[in-house]
Amino acid sequence: MPVKKLIPYALLIAALIIFPMVAPISVVNIGVYVLIFAIAAVGLSLLMGLAGQVSLGHAAFFSIGAYTQGILVTKHDWNMFMAIPVSMLMSMVVALLVGLPMLRLRGHFLALATLGLGIIVTIVARELDYTGGTSGIYGIPKPDFGGRVYNTPAEFFWLISPVVVLAVALGDKLKHSRIGRALGAVNDSEVAAECLGVDTFRLRVKVFVLAAAYAGLAGAFYAHWLAVVSPESANFPLSVSFLLMVVLGGLSTIWGALTGAILVETMDEGMRALIPHLIPGASGEVQLLGFGLVLVLVVVLLPGGLAQLWDILRRRVRGIREDPGVDDSETPEALGPELDALLAQADVGPPGSRVLEVRGLTKRYGGVTALLDFDLDVDAGEIVALIGPNGAGKTTAFNIITGVMPPTEGSVSVNGTTVTGKRPNTIAALGATRTFQNLQTFKSTSVRGNVMVARHLRTKAGLLAGMFGFDRGEERRTWQQVDSVLTATGLHRHADRPITALSFGQQRQVEVARALALAPSLLLLDEPMAGLSGSERDHLSQMLNKVRDAGLSVLLVEHDVAAVMALADRIYVLDDGVRIAHGKPRAIRANPAVIAAYLGTGEEDDNLVRSAAAQVEDLSSTSGGER
Ligand code: ATP
Repeated sequence: MPVKKLIPYALLIAALIIFPMVAPISVVNIGVYVLIFAIAAVGLSLLMGLAGQVSLGHAAFFSIGAYTQGILVTKHDWNMFMAIPVSMLMSMVVALLVGLPMLRLRGHFLALATLGLGIIVTIVARELDYTGGTSGIYGIPKPDFGGRVYNTPAEFFWLISPVVVLAVALGDKLKHSRIGRALGAVNDSEVAAECLGVDTFRLRVKVFVLAAAYAGLAGAFYAHWLAVVSPESANFPLSVSFLLMVVLGGLSTIWGALTGAILVETMDEGMRALIPHLIPGASGEVQLLGFGLVLVLVVVLLPGGLAQLWDILRRRVRGIREDPGVDDSETPEALGPELDALLAQADVGPPGSRVLEVRGLTKRYGGVTALLDFDLDVDAGEIVALIGPNGAGKTTAFNIITGVMPPTEGSVSVNGTTVTGKRPNTIAALGATRTFQNLQTFKSTSVRGNVMVARHLRTKAGLLAGMFGFDRGEERRTWQQVDSVLTATGLHRHADRPITALSFGQQRQVEVARALALAPSLLLLDEPMAGLSGSERDHLSQMLNKVRDAGLSVLLVEHDVAAVMALADRIYVLDDGVRIAHGKPRAIRANPAVIAAYLGTGEEDDNLVRSAAAQVEDLSSTSGGER
C-alpha cells in the first residue's frame, strides 16, 4: 500500500489511542457507541455506496447479532470471542435467506421490504420466550479477555478500536478490488455491467450478506457494552440512524461511514440534551423527526455528504482540477501490437464456424410488432451489418440477442449454445458483448475504471480475496492489460480522466474499448460511429478490420451507410421489424426495396418493395464472394 494511503490510518489509530486518555469519561462512553455503530455503518456504506441498495432494515441484522451473542453468552455460557463469529454468521444466514427473494426487487420496493424485515425481527424478539420477550436478554457480561475485564468506557473503547480500523480497511480494500469495481459498475449502469459478464444479482446478494456480517459484529459488541438486548434494537429509528450516518458522511467513501457515525452520535446526544429544553415533554419521536430533517437537508443540499465537501475543499486548497484535460488535436495513434495481443485472447472458432444464429425472432410490445420472424447468422471472422430506417427494430434485435430483453418468440444461440431468455452476463460468458446506442458508461469512474470492469470475466479474485489483499498479482496484471487496451484503442491519453469529462464521441470509443477488453468472440456495436470525427471513424474502421482479421466477429448497427458498405461482409436490412433484404454490400446498395425503405414509399409502392425484397433474397443466397 502506498505511504499516502497509510496516512489516514496512522491518524485514525493515533486518535483512537489518545482519545480515551484526554476525553472525559462521559464523552468516552459516547465514543464507544460511535465505534460500535461505525462498524455497522461501514457495512451499510458498502451496501448503499457500492451496490446502490437502500436498506431501511439494517438494525434487524444488528439486532440478530446482538441477540445471538446475548443468548450464547448468558444461556449457553459461551466465551465472548467464540460467540462473535457465530453471531455474525447468524446475521449472514438471515441476510442470505431474506436477500435471495428480496434482492430481486429494485429501488423503493427493496427499501420497503427491508423496512418490513426490521418490524418482523422486533415482533419475533418480543413474542418469543427464548429471546426474553419484552424485557429481552439481560445480564450480558463485559468482555473478559486475557484475564482482564474490559469494564470502563476507555478499556472497551480500546478493545474495539482495532476492529473498527480493520472494518474500515477491509471495506476500503473491497471497494478498490475486482468485486468493488463490478459493484460500482452495477450501480452506474446495471445493463452495461451485465453485458460485460457481471452477475449483478449474485453480487448484490454477496454484498447484502457482507453488510449483515458487519451489522452482526457491531450488534455483538453492543450486547456486551449495554449488557442488555431488547426488541427495540431492531427498530426503525436505529435503521434511520445508520442510514443518516452513511448519507451524512458520504457514500463515495468508507471513511464517510465513520465520520457519519461520529456526527450522528454527537447530534443524538446533543438533541437528547437540547430537546427537553426546547419542547417540554417531548419524547424520542421528536429526535427521530430531527434526524429526518437532517437527512432531507443533506440529500437536498449536499447529496455527496461530507465526503463531497471534503473533496471540494481538498481540490480548492491543492488547486486540483476535476479534469486536467488533454490535447485533443492529435489524431489517435496507429493500432499497435497491443491490439494483436488483446485479440489473441479471444476464444474464436475456426474461420466460417457459426458464432451467432438467430431464428424466427419476434418481439411484440402490446400492439406494436418491433420484430417479426427475424433470422440472422454471423460466422467467425466476419463483419455483419444490420441496417434499416429509424424504428426498424435493430436495437430490439440487439437487446434480445444480448439477453437485455426476452423475445416473444424465436431463438438465439451463441457459439453453439442456446441463450434465448438467458441473462446478459451468461451470454457475455459465452463470448458475446456489446456497446449501446444510448451511452451506458460507468459515470462514477475514470476511463481506465470503465475498461477495468470489462476484465471481470477474465479475472477471478472474489470478495474475500479483494478484502484481504490476495488479489495483488491479478490486479497488477489487469492494470497492465487495461493499459494495453487503452493504448491499442488510442485512448491512453484519457486514461485517468473522469469518463464524464470526455466528449460524446470519445465516450462511444470508450464503450468500444471496454467491449474489446473482454476479448469477446462476438462484438455487437450499436451505432459506434455516431458522434465520431472523420479521423476517429477511420481509426475505428481500421480497428474493426483488425478485429475481423484476428478471427473475431462483429455485428454492427450503423446509420453511416458509407462506412457500413466499406466494412461489412454481409448486410441485413430491416424495415418495420421485417427483414427486407440480406446480401453483400454491392447487392444491397442496388436493392430497390432497400432504397425504398430508406427514401420512403407510398402505399401503392408496397407491392413493388415486397417483390424487390424477394429478388434480393434470391440474389443474396446465390451471390459470390464480392463485397
Ligand atoms: P433507431 O435506429 O431509431 O434506433 P431501431 O431500428 O433501433 O431504431 P427499435 O428501437 O428497435 O428500432 O424500435 C423498433 C420499434 O419498436 C419502434 O416502433 C419502437 O417505437 C418500438 N419500441 C421499442 N421499444 C419499445 C418499448 N419498450 N415499448 C414499446 N415499443 C417499443
